[in-house]
Amino acid sequence: HSPADPVSVEITVNSPDQMRELGRRLAKLLRAGDLVMLTGELGAGKTTLTRGLGEGLGVRGAVTSPTFVIARVHPSLGGGPPLVHVDAYRLSGGLDEMEDLDLDVSLPESVVVVEWGEGRVEELTEDRLHVLIHRAVGDTTDEVRHVTVTGLGGRWAPVDLGVLSA
Ligand code: ADP
Ligand code: MG
Repeated sequence: HSPADPVSVEITVNSPDQMRELGRRLAKLLRAGDLVMLTGELGAGKTTLTRGLGEGLGVRGAVTSPTFVIARVHPSLGGGPPLVHVDAYRLSGGLDEMEDLDLDVSLPESVVVVEWGEGRVEELTEDRLHVLIHRAVGDTTDEVRHVTVTGLGGRWAPVDLGVLSA
């Protein structure tokens, strides 16, 4: 495929623990400057995945839903990039508001994970990882999730996302 084509992988996740494990695997692919957009309804598992991502990156502080803040910065404990965890749900203004957050870190030097980012943060970079989480409709007790990870842009073209479903 050409560098502009998205590369995609689909993963079935059977439990919250497996979702965290997927986050830890995903963390191994990430480096400073990367943007990950998480899409999925409330309770899909976006924050659970981000928790595993934080574990994989080795950052300080437990990843929780940023309920009272729009973004939370988790510094790395091992010299890697910090994790900037954004809940864009209330970011009505999109990118401009992101830049106004005064985060104390530079986004190009961070791994930025955005929940509810669709239509809000695409302008940040053409290179993005989209993670779409869906659950079986109508079954609220079901722990099965279908996760589609798509890499966009030249950053992700050469990356084998297949390692995520290993
Ligand atoms: P979101 O951030 O998308 O709103 P959360 O990660 O905060 O979702 O919450 C997901 C909820 O669903 C948690 O209570 C979690 O225990 C539960 N859950 C059940 N199965 C899964 C799964 N396979 N992956 C992630 N979360 C799951
Ligand atoms: Mg959440």
